[in-house]
Amino acid sequence: MPFKGRVPWNKGLRKRIKKTCMVCNRPFEVIESRKNQRFCSLSCWYKYSRGKPRIKIRKVNLTKEQLYDLYWNKKLSMYDIAKKIGVVYNAVRQWMLKYNIPRRTYSETAKLRHFSKETREKLRKIALKSWKNNRARRLKHLEKLHTNEEIIAKRLKSLRKRPTSLEKKFMEIIEKHNLPFKYCGDGSVLIGYKNPDFVCTNGAKVCIEIRARNICRVFQGESPEEWARKRIEHFKKWGWKCLVFFAYREHSKFRFVLSEDEIVAKIKEVV
Ligand SMILES: [Zn+2]
Repeated sequence: MPFKGRVPWNKGLRKRIKKTCMVCNRPFEVIESRKNQRFCSLSCWYKYSRGKPRIKIRKVNLTKEQLYDLYWNKKLSMYDIAKKIGVVYNAVRQWMLKYNIPRRTYSETAKLRHFSKETREKLRKIALKSWKNNRARRLKHLEKLHTNEEIIAKRLKSLRKRPTSLEKKFMEIIEKHNLPFKYCGDGSVLIGYKNPDFVCTNGAKVCIEIRARNICRVFQGESPEEWARKRIEHFKKWGWKCLVFFAYREHSKFRFVLSEDEIVAKIKEVV
């Protein structure tokens, strides 16, 4: 229960604004926060609002056929339809969903758009520029991958176990006949960014490649002879002579195409 004669703490502190009533033209006072008040009393407001028309909600309903015609035959966008009918975009979207009308794909929409010749040229230039930039970046990255010796050695190391059983077999031959070659298939020696299997240790620029014939077919998609030719050509470019020896798999064991004596003779020919 409020005490009689109690004075509110903010009495007289609030600013009061003098206004006149819109209906009865009587002056009245309002506090500042209600400065938009137009009537002196509720009864005046009733008098004012009685004769006024209420806000009407316009109900528009399109049939499925009408909407389909606008969208697919007249090729209007959903935004355009909304503008034309006088509803919001979301209403049109809801109708489309309700009537299960398919919508245009991005490419179909893009075809409907008509750019001027200048705009098209501009867009083309922008696309070309970005494509070139991306291409340059990609090539730079590839070049780094294929020319950085550290990266190549690392990759070869992780690629597979080295030496392979075939390489081990060849190492045995080298040891047995005391040939001046050493194993380097683990990426320790790179000639023109490519890694041969064996290199000569007595100073001659000779390297040896060993390959199982089936590997060429499966991994390179080319014949072993083709692979050998490319390999020899590559090392030749850098001033190296390359010998290629093929092997094949027989009963889960590798066997060289040439016999041991033939291999040794071929190597001794060069060194
Ligand atoms: Zn009034």
